[in-house]
Amino acid sequence: MAALALEELGIVGCGGAGFPTHVKLAARDIDYFIVNGAECEPLLHKDKELLLHQTAPFLQGLKLALDLTRAKRAFIGVKKKYAKVLEHLRSAIDDPRIDLLPLGDFYPAGDEYELVYEASQRLIPYGGIPLNIGCVVANVETLLLVGRGQPMTTKVLTITGQVPRPVTVEVPIGLSVREALALAGLHDLTGLAIIDGGPMMGRLLGDLEREVVTKTCGGLIALPLAHPLIRKMSRSLKDHTRIARSACDQCTDCTELCPRFLLGYPIKPHKAMRTAQLSAANDQAWSIESVFCCECGLCSLFSCPEDLPPREMAVAAKKTHLARGVKLSDWKGAPSVHPMRSARRVSIDRLLKKIGLLDYDRKAPFTPVDLRVERVRLPLKMHIGVPVQPLVKPGDRVAAGQKIGAIPPQKLGAVLHASISGRVAEVTADAITIARE
Ligand code: SF4
Ligand code: SF4
Repeated sequence: MAALALEELGIVGCGGAGFPTHVKLAARDIDYFIVNGAECEPLLHKDKELLLHQTAPFLQGLKLALDLTRAKRAFIGVKKKYAKVLEHLRSAIDDPRIDLLPLGDFYPAGDEYELVYEASQRLIPYGGIPLNIGCVVANVETLLLVGRGQPMTTKVLTITGQVPRPVTVEVPIGLSVREALALAGLHDLTGLAIIDGGPMMGRLLGDLEREVVTKTCGGLIALPLAHPLIRKMSRSLKDHTRIARSACDQCTDCTELCPRFLLGYPIKPHKAMRTAQLSAANDQAWSIESVFCCECGLCSLFSCPEDLPPREMAVAAKKTHLARGVKLSDWKGAPSVHPMRSARRVSIDRLLKKIGLLDYDRKAPFTPVDLRVERVRLPLKMHIGVPVQPLVKPGDRVAAGQKIGAIPPQKLGAVLHASISGRVAEVTADAITIARE
């Protein structure tokens, strides 16, 4: 597939940030192409379900990606505990370039830095990207979309938590979150909060009348408003800062268990806590290494014995320093793995217990759905880069799969397509709405 054709499909990374896939697959002559099927966020199942139920187009996409990038070798990272998935893939793989990479059941096994190290024994340099050390990482669903070779108009997500029937489904992008939740049997949202993504790094959804399934949504988790995780996620930075100043005894557990610290990066969240305790603003040079925080949440949700918010303080410091122009590449030297790294991994079981989600750890089987969607709202920016430029106006008729948003010239972005057929109902500064006729 030519790079231009790939660009016209509007595919973005489905593992989180939404980096445009045509740009990622423009890399050439790489050593390792690494598929991220770790899915380390608790409760989510979409990657494992896709590897089982969409194996042929996924492998087709992977082989196309290997051809395009001229990769020497590929690894598919899947947790060892999913023995059935590994066995299934082993019998389906028919390309000598592709191997399996069985992973431990720890958090965050799917972090890009962790996965690259597990696959290649190489560490991403300070301020670098995997390509700097000959690696490209892509998500399972992203490669499935490449294999299908069609415009990105649907999204696969797990819907779970306090729902009658946890499921993994494929739905049109732009579907309302309310309609998506109904697919898991959840119709009455009274007393519930909804997380977009996983419990560790997801975001709490606000106005459910406006929220829609986007290109990067991997899961919807319903939890009671009174659940401790929801209460923590609902706190303002002001409240987090007040709590941070209350009781930190500088034990350094948050740092000693930090996955990026254990890989050898300079992050030290206890210093961000100290800065918050001792300074009026969390912007002192003392916590400048917070720019290396990947926001995984382990320190705040698991490591701290006092239930304090080191992540939130580290992220606040990171934003301050990045806004000042601090660059990760300014650091001298190179990362070096901590000798205790393998002994300090946090298993998903321990994590589930600590964050109070053990009772919600249920299967969410891939379930085909036959939906007649009446309306979709398609945000103009569901990817890293700039928003797309609308190519349609209110009243225009569009067909499912039709290109309705273009990448501005010379900019980073991902093409937008209509996810249902119908008439354009509204074009605003941030979204295009299509209503079925
Ligand atoms: S934030 Fe918690 S884990 Fe970190 S140093 Fe303070 S008390 Fe210890
Ligand atoms: S959120 Fe905490 S544990 Fe995770 S990288 Fe940042 S400082 Fe480390």
